[in-house]
Amino acid sequence: MEVHKILIDGKWIKSDSGETFESVNPATEEVIGKFQQGNGEDVKAAIDAAEDAFEKWSSYPAPRRGEVLFKAYQLLKRDKERLGKLVTSEMGKVLPEGLGDVQEAIDMTAYMAGEGRRLFGHTTPSELPDKFCMTIRQPLGVVGLISPWNFPVAIPAWKLMPALVCGNTVVFKPASDTPLCAIELVKILEEAGLPKGVVNLVTGPGSIVGEEIVTNPKIRAISFTGSREVGIEVRKKAELKKVGLELGGKNGIIIMDDADLDLALDGVLWGGFGTTGQRCTAASRVIIHKKIKNKFLDMLFERTKILKVGDGLKKDTEVGPLVNKKAVEKVDKYTQIGLDEGAKLLYGGRKVGGKGFFYQPTIFTNVDVDMRIAQEEIFGPTVSVIEIDSLDEAINVMNSINYGLSSSIYTQDVNRAFKAIEKIESGLTYVNASTIGSEVHLPFGGVKDTGNGTREGGIEGIHEFSETKTVYVDYSGVLQRAQIDIE
Ligand code: NAD
Repeated sequence: MEVHKILIDGKWIKSDSGETFESVNPATEEVIGKFQQGNGEDVKAAIDAAEDAFEKWSSYPAPRRGEVLFKAYQLLKRDKERLGKLVTSEMGKVLPEGLGDVQEAIDMTAYMAGEGRRLFGHTTPSELPDKFCMTIRQPLGVVGLISPWNFPVAIPAWKLMPALVCGNTVVFKPASDTPLCAIELVKILEEAGLPKGVVNLVTGPGSIVGEEIVTNPKIRAISFTGSREVGIEVRKKAELKKVGLELGGKNGIIIMDDADLDLALDGVLWGGFGTTGQRCTAASRVIIHKKIKNKFLDMLFERTKILKVGDGLKKDTEVGPLVNKKAVEKVDKYTQIGLDEGAKLLYGGRKVGGKGFFYQPTIFTNVDVDMRIAQEEIFGPTVSVIEIDSLDEAINVMNSINYGLSSSIYTQDVNRAFKAIEKIESGLTYVNASTIGSEVHLPFGGVKDTGNGTREGGIEGIHEFSETKTVYVDYSGVLQRAQIDIE
């Protein structure tokens, strides 16, 4: 079995701890490889390497940094099939989604490569004569990237590519369920010609490797994607570092009485059971008008019961496994909570026997807005159906949660659609489409407990990984005092 290493200062080495952990295929429970159980000493060495590499990398002209990313983009395209299969084997999502995960990284790499020739600041007139005002973008320094397992290639790419094009150097800690996807992505960057020390990768536990990254004073910024609970800790411990948090969601689809029900059905199935519900943007709530509820639930039942659950590498599989045994237990615990709260199980609610971490697609009806299954992120294939009888009520239900990531409304009425866009409290709103499907050139992130107001993707991803410097150039040759020397 291959024992994978960590990357520090351009060298793949063993951890200082001398220990390893395993990554497991969630569909077969086969061990994919062994990985270094990194520790604080490894992180410190990685930070030193990133500090050393910073001067040179940040001084490369940004278009040249972009060229390295263009090369990485070509290599990712070359390796899409191989990496897509790896995503499915290590994380579990079905192969078309595994390929989509890699495509998202390809798209982000292309977008950020192009940013090498933009990284725009702005100019504006001065209030004084013979004076020039502008802003420029500058790198932050050494940045710490901490990622979850559910988009094991895409999310690291959403962080690495903007961080690199802005001229930062990186210490990257991937989730322990998907270390191989992260290693393969970083190897692509190496092959693309990234100088040594610019990206350093340390695998290992969040409580040790992650903690050192978050608290080490040499790290200037943290970009964290993961659960709300850990995100709150990260924010506290990072003190005054710049922190970007992308946390959980409890996203809803509103289906009004005028909706195209076939279209809405496709949206609910894709949003609820795509990636086995393990997306931060998964549609875990369906908020449906009572006039069409029964008809829609019959349609939903018929389609859900024929969904094929299995190994994502098999051609006909529609719903893959959950990421690990703990996730199955969590989903099952929430099924019990839902039943205890008085919700009705329309379909599913059981573990699937045999090898692998499978759970039936699960639908609860008779759900009240304040039940735990309607409020808390389950991160599995569990959909809670809540009945409403007006748009106002639907929007109230949508907003009744602590999270605020994604939302969707199905209606043919443009007035209702715009009212929903205006009133729903979320970072993303889709009209006549499901809650999932972000594109890399638009901002991504949420409101309320989904984060701390930062956005990734598009130009906002550049803002996350750069500092704005304001520059005044006075070419008058005399002292000009702002606010004072005005006529
Ligand atoms: P998690 O919070 O358990 O772990 C995320 C990362 O943080 C992992 O790499 C983990 O090792 C690390 N970590 C754990 N403890 C740490 C600590 N004390 N200090 C520093 N790092 C630590 O989350 P997960 O289970 O990997 O991912 C699922 C969660 O991620 C869900 O809540 C999901 O909604 C969220 N998510 C959010 C987005 C988004 O963009 N908003 C995207 C994907 C996933």
